[in-house]
Amino acid sequence: MPLPEYPMIIGGAEHRSDTPLTVAVPYDGQPFATVYAAGQPHLQMAVEAAKKAAPLMREMTRAERAAILLRAHALLGERRELFARTIASESGKPLREAHTEVERALTTLFFSAEEAHRLAGEEVPMDAAPAGAGRMAMFIREPLGVIAAITPFNFPLNLSMHKIGPALAAGNAVIHKPASATPVTAILLARLFLEAGLPPGALNVVTGPGGSIGDFLVEHPDVRMITFTGSADVGTRIRARAGMKRVTLELGNNSAVIVCEDADLEDAVARCVPGAYANSGQVCISVQRIFVGEAVHGEFVERFSEAARALPIGHPLDENAAVTSLITEAEAQRVVSWIGEAVGAGAKLVSGGGRQRATVQPAVLADVPRDARIFCQEAFGPVAGINRFRALDEAIEAVNDSPYGLQASIFTSDIGKAFRAARCVHVGGFLINDVPQLRVDQMPYGGVKMSGMGREGPRYAIEEMTEIKLISWRVS
Ligand code: NAP
Repeated sequence: MPLPEYPMIIGGAEHRSDTPLTVAVPYDGQPFATVYAAGQPHLQMAVEAAKKAAPLMREMTRAERAAILLRAHALLGERRELFARTIASESGKPLREAHTEVERALTTLFFSAEEAHRLAGEEVPMDAAPAGAGRMAMFIREPLGVIAAITPFNFPLNLSMHKIGPALAAGNAVIHKPASATPVTAILLARLFLEAGLPPGALNVVTGPGGSIGDFLVEHPDVRMITFTGSADVGTRIRARAGMKRVTLELGNNSAVIVCEDADLEDAVARCVPGAYANSGQVCISVQRIFVGEAVHGEFVERFSEAARALPIGHPLDENAAVTSLITEAEAQRVVSWIGEAVGAGAKLVSGGGRQRATVQPAVLADVPRDARIFCQEAFGPVAGINRFRALDEAIEAVNDSPYGLQASIFTSDIGKAFRAARCVHVGGFLINDVPQLRVDQMPYGGVKMSGMGREGPRYAIEEMTEIKLISWRVS
């Protein structure tokens, strides 16, 4: 039986190319859809379509933009099951996590609609300076025009929504390039927005290999902004090629947690285990490095590994599976080889770490050398390394010993320790008595150092996706 086809969406119409691509379930390699690789003519067509739609988006009232987003919200609510099953199939994440992603995407879309209503500038107090006397001024926020959104495979719906929702709310047109592994969710989403009344061309989806499509969009003079979520390597390349364009980069991390001796250990374990192994650790804020107070290190390792061993492994569409596969077998091989390298350098493999095809058993390492790649680089797999510390400042120094700085956290019952760590850890977000993997979709979210630049969360993304124009008038 032929596979269902998902042509690109450009200018509101479906487009195929001469190069079909098969999308498969990463867990078992089962093909489930056909998409098409965009050639240069498709990319040029997408830019033209977005340029044509941009003035329509800009001229719409806030109420009209919000109404489209709310209609899309209602349609997504009706299609929860379709989206969850599509996400689970193409990204390979467990179905129950795919359902959570759909609920989060609904929240992101709802907050984007609210921000469309709220979008405003402010009065500028001109006469606070002598040169401003007799003048009144305000600034308004104007859309940029055409925005390219490039997204990763690990949250194909919600991370796309974090770009598309705010961009449309602010009156922009979008060209979306989803990850090659997960294009179907993006195409379903574009169809849904068209049904919700979005003008054709206001959201275009081009599929195919990131290198050539990415370079075209990043360098095209009519694309005003690149909003990118993905690896630090690709983000660095985009930043280098983008020239004067606006760029938002949401990149990787090797997230750290400090567990103090005065923490509620049961609670810390209960949060750190899903924090480390959800989506097989393929989450940019996955718990990767855990620093535990010396006196409770042994007990923490024991409780943590017991809980990790109990996680059911299975097919992404199996309702009970908590751990499924990585996105490719090559990624699983990389993770296992990094575990082996750490063990060779003196780390203790407490449990897990076996591999079958693209699936890696949740791995627990203890006393990991700081320069082992599984610790000092982004692991992006189901692995947690649990080290020990004596003094809080030693733990803070270890957390900061990273090229990344997205989110980190501490578990403690001492408010003084919590706020000392919050002030001294160099990250974009710091969580107290939670895991760094916590993201609530309206909060300002983004990293420092190699974790990127700019913030997401609809309100903050809109600030990045608009430009300020000052209007001053002489009143006397
Ligand atoms: P990736 O390999 O960097 O790919 C991300 C996107 O960039 C894909 O659509 C990819 O297309 C495209 N791309 C590839 N080469 C490109 C180029 N030269 N120019 C422009 N775009 C290009 O990342 P991934 O493996 O999909 O996702 C995992 C990474 O994303 C991890 O590092 C993770 O930490 C990060 N991430 C960060 C956040 C955050 O919010 N900070 C959230 C989720 C994930 P192809 O798929 O066709 O190659």
